[in-house]
Amino acid sequence: MSQEAYLVENLVKIYPKNNVRANDGISLDIRWGEILGLLGPNGAGKTTLVKQLVGLLKPTEGRIWLDGHDVVKNPDIVPHYVAYQGQKMPLLVDITPREAIYYTGRLRGLSPRAARVQTDEFIERLGLHDFARRPMAKLSGGQQRLAHIAMTLVGNRPILILDEPTSGLDPEHRRLVWDLLLESQKQKGTTILLITHNVLEAEQVVERVGIVDHGRLLALDYVGVLKQQVDQRIRLEVTAKPGHEKALADALHSFESVRRINDLRFRIYLQKSDVSHAVRHILSDAIMGWINDYRVVPPTLEDVYFHFGGKEVSVES
Ligand code: ADP
Repeated sequence: MSQEAYLVENLVKIYPKNNVRANDGISLDIRWGEILGLLGPNGAGKTTLVKQLVGLLKPTEGRIWLDGHDVVKNPDIVPHYVAYQGQKMPLLVDITPREAIYYTGRLRGLSPRAARVQTDEFIERLGLHDFARRPMAKLSGGQQRLAHIAMTLVGNRPILILDEPTSGLDPEHRRLVWDLLLESQKQKGTTILLITHNVLEAEQVVERVGIVDHGRLLALDYVGVLKQQVDQRIRLEVTAKPGHEKALADALHSFESVRRINDLRFRIYLQKSDVSHAVRHILSDAIMGWINDYRVVPPTLEDVYFHFGGKEVSVES
């Protein structure tokens, strides 16, 4: 086994059609057994990068090594190592989730019995029972997504590459998916590359994170290490009662450093010595009636993301 699962050297991808430089000199490694997140806004170049990793696109320049194999020269090697879940779901129409999962397992080398056992397991774990025997074309987007996740997991590939795997799923099913992925990593040592534009969700699972924008890798390190590089001021988060957000926004205006996170949520950056004064202020009679909740929060992956120049990212889970 080579030292890294993947090694990417100076990857450049220019789409000739529109001359867009979608990847502009990206170098990174993916280590065996880790969960690496790639974060970035829409159009950053994430999907272009992973399509090259799995051999679906040829780089304009640069090298990609998968367990020491040259992916550009030998893309056929990829399916032996990698289960790839792209953003677009495959066009399966008449086939049922049960069949799709089973045959994917068989294609990945499982015996008929092992494929049946795993198919049953994923149907059970992802709650697919009610529609496992219905044609894919008759399922909702979320149901198709879950079937697709089972198709990615079946057959125990050592590397999973997942492009926005939970988009379109409700919070309960998102949780199920993350639990399954984490379990696979912990119990089988699966290496996972997760592409997302959802910072909050990524924070729950990734160990190392790469931040991509305009085709470049702006940072790549352990989340904890990157957090140490961001603004170390204390963050006081205040949530407005619905209907009072405008009044609260005006009241918080007096703080030098306040950022609106979403409609209801505000974050105030404070020196340690100013925290008690700030808390007293927001709990004053004038303001208290407008707030639902306040709390002191440590730096988050979202702070890291903004620190390294990220933007237009989803901060909602
Ligand atoms: P992300 O996955 O981060 O949203 P993409 O890799 O899909 O970003 O896109 C990166 C850039 O490349 C964007 O400017 C996008 O418009 C462009 N792009 C993506 N796919 C193609 C394509 N097939 N042909 C031309 N341009 C493309």
